[in-house]
This record gives sequence, C-alpha cells and structure tokens, in this order.
Amino acid sequence: MSEPKSKNITWHGTNVEKAEREQALNARGCVLWLTGLSGSGKSTIAYRVEQLLLERGKFAYVLDGDNIRYGLNKDLGFSPADRTENIRRIGEVAKLFADACAVTSTAFISPYRADRDQVRAICPAGTFIEVYVDTPIEECEKRDPKGLYKKARAGLIPEFTGVSAPYEAPENPEIVLKTAGRSVDECAAELLNYLIDKGFVTAG
Ligand code: ADP
Repeated sequence: MSEPKSKNITWHGTNVEKAEREQALNARGCVLWLTGLSGSGKSTIAYRVEQLLLERGKFAYVLDGDNIRYGLNKDLGFSPADRTENIRRIGEVAKLFADACAVTSTAFISPYRADRDQVRAICPAGTFIEVYVDTPIEECEKRDPKGLYKKARAGLIPEFTGVSAPYEAPENPEIVLKTAGRSVDECAAELLNYLIDKGFVTAG
C-alpha cells in the first residue's frame, strides 16, 4: 500500500470503542462486496437486501456503481488504472461506513482480483464479505438492463467488461449467488440468511 503524500498528519483515535459503538447502535457493520458482470444483478440484490435490513430496523447502506461516478469518482474513467483507483476509493468509503456500523453493500463490477483483495486487506478481519454474483454472460446480455451489451458489441463502448475487458472471477468468495433462473427475492434472502448466520443481523 502506498504511503500518504503528506507527512504532517497524525492518526486520531476515537473516544468510543468499537464494541461500545456497536452496543449503542445495536448494529454490527460489515462490507458486502458484490462483484460480477454488468447486468449480473449486483445493484438489484444490494438494494433489495438494504430494504429488507431497513425493514428490520437495521443500519444499511448501498454504494452503487454509477452513482459514485457522478460524485466522488467523477474524475475517473474505465482504463485499468482508473478502475483500480475507483475501487480503492470505494473500498476506503465502504470501510468507513462499516466502521460506523452499517451493513454496507457495494455494487461494482470490480473486475480485478487484486483490487478486491486490496479492499479485503484494509478491512478488519471477518468484516469483508465477497459476494460473487455469478451470472453467465449470456444471461447478462439477454437482460441487458441498460442496453450496454448492445452498445459494446457494436463497438460503441471501449473496455467493456466481459466483451473487450477482462473479468477475474473470485477464487474464494464468502458467498456465491447464482441468479440465473432465480428470483431477486430468493437471492436477497440467501444473502440475508448469510448475515444472520454470521451474526451481523439478528434473526426475526
Ligand atoms: P448490475 O448492478 O450487476 O449491473 P442490475 O442489478 O443493474 O445489474 O441488473 C440486473 C437485472 O437482472 C435487473 O433487470 C434484474 O431485474 C434482473 N434479474 C433477474 N433475475 C435476477 C436475480 N435473481 N437477481 C438479480 N437480478 C435479477
């Protein structure tokens, strides 16, 4: 990891320990890192899980691909270096949200394994949950919710993941969500059950 540019900075601790914060908010934060091809279902599942958690009175938030590119990452494109920086910044933000005790879902293609591993490395042990939204490209292309595959096949979008740019599937994800032939609710329930199993959310 690279060093900060400034040498005149000092890390400031907090007055509240992590456990106290969790107790006060009755919440445990984590990063649900959804990765997969465009159209695989990352955003749809992330927002459904967020809704289910909020209905249970849980602190949940989604960081979503395009939305972040309107603001925080508006200076970044889709070159390999920009994609890496995109994920690095999102990883840092997700880590902060999780530290604030939110179940933080991120919905980014995040095609490079090394970039995802870098985010895992900065998160406290056990709080980074890699969710591989495993949808075959043929299915994603059939869905094509934003018409992007059509454009990419026509050569109108350079460096499009799965068409003209690589996607490196996770090797050891915490959870694999197969979406083809399954409903959004089934997939969201599977993820929610995982959170309950691991104690991030209480059942009921
Ligand atoms: P991504 O965020 O990965 O680019 P989106 O969530 O924007 O993908 O789009 C996924 C599309 O696939 C949506 O139109 C959604 O309704 C559809 N879909 C069909 N089945 C599922 C499923 N089981 N899980 C998630 N999305 C599904």
